[in-house]
Amino acid sequence: MSTALKPLLPGSTLGVLGGGQLGRMWAHAAQRMGYNTAVLDPDAQSPAGLVSHHHIHTDYLDAAGLKQLAAVCQAVTTEFENVPADALAQLAATLPVSPAASAVAVAQDRAREKAHFVKCGVPVAPHAVIDTPEQLAAVNDNLLPGILKTSRMGYDGKGQLRVTTRDELNAGWAKLGKVPCVLEKMLPLASECSVIVARGRDGVMVNLPVQRNLHRDGILAVTEVFAGNVPDVLAQQAIEAAKAVAQELNYVGVLCVEFFVLADGALVVNEIAPRPHNSGHYSQDACDVSQFELQVRTMADLPLTQPRLHSPAFMLNLLGDLWFANTNAAQVEPAWQKVLALPGTHLHLYGKTEARVGRKMGHLNITAPTPEAARAAALQAAAILG
Ligand code: ADP
Ligand code: MG
Repeated sequence: MSTALKPLLPGSTLGVLGGGQLGRMWAHAAQRMGYNTAVLDPDAQSPAGLVSHHHIHTDYLDAAGLKQLAAVCQAVTTEFENVPADALAQLAATLPVSPAASAVAVAQDRAREKAHFVKCGVPVAPHAVIDTPEQLAAVNDNLLPGILKTSRMGYDGKGQLRVTTRDELNAGWAKLGKVPCVLEKMLPLASECSVIVARGRDGVMVNLPVQRNLHRDGILAVTEVFAGNVPDVLAQQAIEAAKAVAQELNYVGVLCVEFFVLADGALVVNEIAPRPHNSGHYSQDACDVSQFELQVRTMADLPLTQPRLHSPAFMLNLLGDLWFANTNAAQVEPAWQKVLALPGTHLHLYGKTEARVGRKMGHLNITAPTPEAARAAALQAAAILG
């Protein structure tokens, strides 16, 4: 690829592999700027496919589907990390693909991810890679109690087991199918945070402010963003670490880096996502440029400017559970009219008709003039939703 960047101007067609909610919000951002969008996803009802100009319903590795995508668009991105890196590599033969297959391949594999963090000099949890029975037997006792995680395909706490003893570790590896895993020492977490960076093909990098995240049952529940949500020194460390991780991958696109803050105040990097992230959704309503617009800009080689948080914000994830909050059987639409009566509430729903427990249906961004007011509105909204 030439180094002189010629931007893809509005009117061009941008493509995405994957049709979930992240693809849908990316499509909305792209369309707002005058781009056409194309989605490749096997599901005919995919949230992004439903709002795009082109929807190719094939498997991610279907040669004809990939050819069709390449024919209708001028650049391609991905909205989830488990898209086969091969599909990205195939597309890259004929058009710009960001992030690159090589970067996505690192994010897809916890063992490679950890090795990358070590290479960047960023602190990681003590861990061991377990691909073979010999490696399992050689695990050091000081990693217990720990969390055994499959190296590939885990998300939202899936593909993970907490293990306290060696017997539990052995049984756990068998239960996970003896697939390649990483055992991580269980760390005393004081809090969790994340940083989203966007990096252009020219190496320019910008970042969203540090997000403080609260999880419930392994799934992100709440993100809080305002000045002082985490101590300044930690925020600075996290931003620098996130940039180092992106830089070292020669990353192009939007990258989320998740961190643990330990009880003693130390910062440890947890994992990366090679795409916009649930913890960055607040940027749609609280920043002057959203993570989805940043994704559009990076893939179109448009300028990146440092995002500015203009309002303290809380993001509440809306899981399918809410549709059953007041009934055990029938799906009932939550009382949006009551939630939207609160000032500064911004409702985002992903167009999924079937609510299921644990399924991400949407999110609510709450902005206010002060963190206290945003928190109070978030508590009221949560009480209304049950
Ligand atoms: P996922 O891909 O499912 O998001 P994570 O590695 O982020 O997987 O783990 C999910 C959650 O489990 C984390 O957000 C954190 O709350 C908890 N967790 C993961 N690893 C550790 C650890 N080593 N020590 C303590 N808690 C952990
Ligand atoms: Mg995670």
